[in-house]
Amino acid sequence: MADLLKVVVTGASGRMGQTVVNLINKSEKLELVGALECLNHEWVGQDIGVAMGGSELGVVVSEDPIEVIANAEAVIDFTTPSATIEFSKLAAQARAIHIIGTTGMSEEDLEKIKAASFHSVVVRAGNMSLGVNLLVALTKKVAAALDDEFDIEIIEAHHKHKVDAPSGTALMLGEAAADGRGIRLADLADRGRDGITGARNKGSIGFASIRGGDIVGKHDVLFASNGEQLTLSHNATDRNIFARGALKAVLWGIDKQPGQYDMMDVLGLN
Ligand code: NAP
Repeated sequence: MADLLKVVVTGASGRMGQTVVNLINKSEKLELVGALECLNHEWVGQDIGVAMGGSELGVVVSEDPIEVIANAEAVIDFTTPSATIEFSKLAAQARAIHIIGTTGMSEEDLEKIKAASFHSVVVRAGNMSLGVNLLVALTKKVAAALDDEFDIEIIEAHHKHKVDAPSGTALMLGEAAADGRGIRLADLADRGRDGITGARNKGSIGFASIRGGDIVGKHDVLFASNGEQLTLSHNATDRNIFARGALKAVLWGIDKQPGQYDMMDVLGLN
């Protein structure tokens, strides 16, 4: 049997972290060799399987990313921007594939990720599901076909714990719509309206965020003109779709040159 690829999961106690650990456990190609959590997290020192309420997996949750990532061939990372920046440096040093699902990153953060990608394969996507990446491709096509008589609005809904808005996926969809129209999202994004906002600016791309309950992730792209509306829509009901995408990205990255990639590359949609 071929050697299994050694994978570390960061934010192992998180919603996505646990989902990824479960899938790696079932994989015939990947082996979990490390699970990372924050300094002083209550799971540190416990077996990850036991901490998750199941049986032992033989991997103890650690708070020491330097030691754990040094032994990794891949790092799957759904955490926070500041943690992801730290992990990207360590993954670069270890020449490990770094799969980044973390959202809410600033321009400055993205520059740091770019620097790390000179040394390692980095796959970063605000959404790792097949359906959403197809939605991105469709959004670009529809935006290219319709002129600015069609107002573009992106509406997203997520669970009540989500800390950033608009979602990384909503921003991906905004970029795709802007690309299709041949404009820069930064120039025309309208992020959040309140009070006497005045009439809608022609050609702008609007964002609206809904937060509540346990909604995994819903995204609509509305193209609205006088007399007709078209909506492209995706609804995620299970976090496994993101974790499956992350595992697919790891396997795809094995024979790639260092650099920055996204799920459109992994899925052959670029
Ligand atoms: P979550 O449940 O809050 O999990 C994040 C985990 O990361 C927490 O366990 C947190 O620990 C841990 N963490 C934070 N800083 C860390 C550090 N320095 N070292 C190690 N672990 C650290 O959030 P989630 O729902 O899993 O989402 C995580 C991220 O993925 C978010 O940015 C979310 O938007 C994104 N996401 C992306 C996709 C995609 O397809 N790209 C899909 C779903 C979610 P504490 O609990 O101690 O803070």
